[in-house]
Amino acid sequence: MAKMQRDLSKYYTKNISGDGMTKIKIGILGATGMVGQRFVELLQNHPWFELTELAASEKSAGSTYESAMEGRWKVSAQIPEKAGKLEIKECKPNLDCKLVFSALDSSVAGPIEEDFAKKGYIVSSNSKNHRMDSDVPLLIPEVNSEHLQIIKRQQKRLGKGFIVTNPNCSAIGLVIALKPLHSSFGLKKVFVTTMQALSGAGYPGVASLDILDNVVPYIGEEEEKIETESLKLLGKVEKDRFSFADIKISAQCNRVNVKDGHLETVNVKLDKKPSLQEVKESFKKFNPLKGMKLPSAPNPPIIVKEDIDRPQPKYDRDLGNGMAVSVGRIRKCNILDYKFLVLSHNTIRGAAGAAILNAELMKVKGILR
Ligand code: NAP
Repeated sequence: MAKMQRDLSKYYTKNISGDGMTKIKIGILGATGMVGQRFVELLQNHPWFELTELAASEKSAGSTYESAMEGRWKVSAQIPEKAGKLEIKECKPNLDCKLVFSALDSSVAGPIEEDFAKKGYIVSSNSKNHRMDSDVPLLIPEVNSEHLQIIKRQQKRLGKGFIVTNPNCSAIGLVIALKPLHSSFGLKKVFVTTMQALSGAGYPGVASLDILDNVVPYIGEEEEKIETESLKLLGKVEKDRFSFADIKISAQCNRVNVKDGHLETVNVKLDKKPSLQEVKESFKKFNPLKGMKLPSAPNPPIIVKEDIDRPQPKYDRDLGNGMAVSVGRIRKCNILDYKFLVLSHNTIRGAAGAAILNAELMKVKGILR
């Protein structure tokens, strides 16, 4: 393995081994894109999942992954050997696998994902298309694992297969940080301003002349996604229906000249009046997946940075193998109650890693059988 390659085998074996069990066959839809590449990278040597199928658009189909990705592989030094030799297929539901991770462009993801689910596949998706559907879980394992119960209702519509989604890349980091505050003190209001990395725009993404020496104060639909998805995530399932959290959230989103890692400034108003120490403790104690031995779960999920000038994308985005959320500069706010910074890796915790963790949770809950 080349020196620059993220060595996940060590990470996984440190956390959990496959114990000789038969691995579950999985495929990737949209395998050639930015998020698709992350899936390929993160799934090499996974103890529970075996990558057997790669799929993308007609223009990539028919080539080996290695040849289709010439000049396009951007996430590490080299393409994992086994994946490089696989032939790219079209995104049609005739793939040899049980579960597909979807990193499809949102212009095509909606119907393709539904076709796969109708044919009996389990779809773990990154795309926005089905996130807000009334029978589709929008899942963060540390936040709302009980939302998986809605799958039964979805299966009445689609058959044996089903779709599970992960949230928008900025909403994930934000909501992981908000969850312990909401559980302990009750959230009333949230202001969030994001500084989002370039990889969040796919490849080639934002033109270099638009972002060098610049900040772009607009990312299409991003503010709306944060404001609505967070309420579904922090809400409940009652009588087979989602009830959204009663919190006011206002978001402002900016694209900045950083490769990976979304940084967010967050101000919160709480129902109770905790001390600064109690707020810090709630972040530190938060670890709902502890003991579940999910291979990709960071332990702990929130890392509290005490340095005055952290977290920073360049130094902190890879904490917990890119799956941990860093929270720092926790302090009193003169207008609301507290303010702090949140950092998360947008293509790992905010995309591919999130969908893989969702699949791991479904496996231990017996839903992947
Ligand atoms: P991307 O780099 O533009 O990749 C898009 C993928 O979709 C490629 O594999 C492409 O295949 C495939 N595709 C496009 N048209 C297709 C068609 N008609 N049929 C089949 N496949 C088709 O995008 P990305 O940044 O990886 O994002 C993928 C998805 O994840 C998007 O829905 C995005 O909103 C979401 N997401 C992204 C991030 C992030 O940080 N980047 C975070 C969270 C969620 P070809 O190469 O063959 O065209």
